[in-house]
Amino acid sequence: MTASSTASRTLPILDAHGAVDHAAGAERFTADVDRTTWHDGALWFVREKRDRGAASVPEWERLRDLASAIKSHTLSRLDEYLERFERRATARGIQVHWARDGAEHNEIVLGILAARGARRLVKSKSMLTEECGLNAHLERHGIEVVDTDLGERIVQLRNEPPSHIVMPAIHLKKEEIGATFHEKLGTPAGLADPDALTAAARRHLRERFLGADAAMTGVNFAIAETGGVVVITNEGNADLGTALAPVYIASMGIEKLIPRAADLGVFLRLLARSATGQASSVYASHVHGPRPGQAMHVVLVDNGRSTQLGRGDFWGSLKCIRCAACLNTCPVYRRSGGYSYGSTIPGPIGSVLTPGLDVRKYAALPFASTLCGSCSAVCPVKVDLDQQLYRWRQLVMAAGGAPPLKRWWLRAMGGVLADPALLQLAGRVARGMLRVLPPRLARRLAGGWGTGRALPEPPRGSFRDWVRANRPGRS
Ligand code: SF4
Repeated sequence: MTASSTASRTLPILDAHGAVDHAAGAERFTADVDRTTWHDGALWFVREKRDRGAASVPEWERLRDLASAIKSHTLSRLDEYLERFERRATARGIQVHWARDGAEHNEIVLGILAARGARRLVKSKSMLTEECGLNAHLERHGIEVVDTDLGERIVQLRNEPPSHIVMPAIHLKKEEIGATFHEKLGTPAGLADPDALTAAARRHLRERFLGADAAMTGVNFAIAETGGVVVITNEGNADLGTALAPVYIASMGIEKLIPRAADLGVFLRLLARSATGQASSVYASHVHGPRPGQAMHVVLVDNGRSTQLGRGDFWGSLKCIRCAACLNTCPVYRRSGGYSYGSTIPGPIGSVLTPGLDVRKYAALPFASTLCGSCSAVCPVKVDLDQQLYRWRQLVMAAGGAPPLKRWWLRAMGGVLADPALLQLAGRVARGMLRVLPPRLARRLAGGWGTGRALPEPPRGSFRDWVRANRPGRS
């Protein structure tokens, strides 16, 4: 795949006003019917594994309540817990930094690396560093950054961003990965066996681990009581990087805190099952300070989180533990792909977090949902995603962020639905038109909704007419 075709597939499609056009991005993805079907099926497979994992824990709902309560409590005293974490971490020899936004975070990391003369960095998966655009910043300053999570490395070699927060390369077929490895790592042409490709990646990454001057990870949980951080992986890449490199940097959003070590078990039981259906992730690495001779840094990043915390309707989104269950279950995400959202975090959680950064640019995202509520039903920390999506829609409309045609249609629909006489008239006109229009034309008028669907036979009368005729006295 050439750089230009990669860019055309991954860059968000923007409308004339520079706003992300999710519908156009989804259309680009669904043009490849095979990929869409396979993507949908692969994610639904993970969703079903999640269901079996949840069903295997009798106290699942109690765990969700508890996790939600712990996160709500922590967020209600976030300043206290952050300061406690800083004190305890500092006492353990960890250097703690505070970053107001992505640019400040990138400068802090660059400063740490520059002070040690580090030129080669190995990094385990961190959506926060994606959010901050860290790789590009470091590469501009001559530092080689190697993402060591297999999926993340695959998309990095292809010059693509992750399309999913847990499975970054879920949109790719093994043949495409084989072609990338052939081009970048010199594997035999046509090799598409997952075991052989994984072995090739392992050999390639092992050299990078051994030659790294510094290692970096994200943070799944930071414990205020102990000043330590916990990083979850299935591949052990975080452990290998932090065990070998002389400098270790952990970057975390300020919402990753939990109060006590005793709280961790609640989240570990929920996270792996919600993410992949596993009873437990393969590695849960607890880091409570640098190894002898090593320097360890933690960067605490705000980047809009304290603003979100101050939003009465949306602060609950900060409870998120990035399990991706809401992505895997979302019928819109499964069929439109991660790139259609044009944001680092796609899917339902991305659609409630990202408009907070720029409501006009991301005005389409709260509408990229059927509001079926499946996201809220699977969320292990009970983020009320469907309610927040609905609330964002109201704010987007009030801010004039929706396209003029959509605004006009929604206002017209609102007027019709609010007036019983108008609604009856509209029903009569629609039934009449359906009877006289040729079916092909009627389907075309329905736009994308009509594609591949047979229209039902229009009823002779309305439901109200039926009640009048069949249930006298109840109309
Ligand atoms: S909002 Fe809930 S379901 Fe979605 S990623 Fe976050 S924790 Fe998981």
